[in-house]
Amino acid sequence: MSSKKKHVLICEDEPSLIFTLQDTLENEGYEVHVAKEGQEALDIIKNIEPDLMLLDIMLPGMSGFDVCKKIREDKHTFPIIMLTARDQEIDKVTGLNIGADDYITKPFGVKELLARIHARLRRANSYSKTGPIDFLQLGDIKIELNESKVIRPDKEIELTTREVELIRFLISNANEPVSRDALLENVWRYEYSTNTRTVDVHISKLRGKIEMQPDDPRYLVTLHGVGYMLKLS
Ligand code: CA
Repeated sequence: MSSKKKHVLICEDEPSLIFTLQDTLENEGYEVHVAKEGQEALDIIKNIEPDLMLLDIMLPGMSGFDVCKKIREDKHTFPIIMLTARDQEIDKVTGLNIGADDYITKPFGVKELLARIHARLRRANSYSKTGPIDFLQLGDIKIELNESKVIRPDKEIELTTREVELIRFLISNANEPVSRDALLENVWRYEYSTNTRTVDVHISKLRGKIEMQPDDPRYLVTLHGVGYMLKLS
């Protein structure tokens, strides 16, 4: 772990839980910021980009879902762990669909929470190890990630948000095998009604956009029995 303290933003309205969370996280060496409602959290994010956020669903004012949605609309990519009440299965699905990375059910143990936080931060680190990149050159094809488009010698093609996310994840794991499950977890975040077939369909469509010969791909290759790999060298 680097010497720089990681910032965790807690958005929760229950005083006793705030106290426990803050105490626990500060003891673990995190810099903790607390917001008691959604708008307050959004205001904090304007000034400090946290490394991770714990976000309660039932909040006064804006719900945790709306806060999460707003954060993703504003293109913040830090991991968000939703705090849900027991048996809110529907909430879990909704939460993951709107861009939360994980959820934890109340009441939860400190150990479990810390394990989830560590796992998410590790993943976030590996996700950004290539740094934010704006474009990728694959032979004659240029992929403008910020503009969501592919510039080919023959034409320009739009990329969907999902395709951009998929490419970014593949870049962060370039030249390494990536399993379908890893893609489901990191790009689709186990959204409702997705499965490995979803991944295959998207990869196939993406190849049509970024490969000159999609049937004989040079960069986005299939590793039989393993998954896929973005070959950049
Ligand atoms: Ca609450």
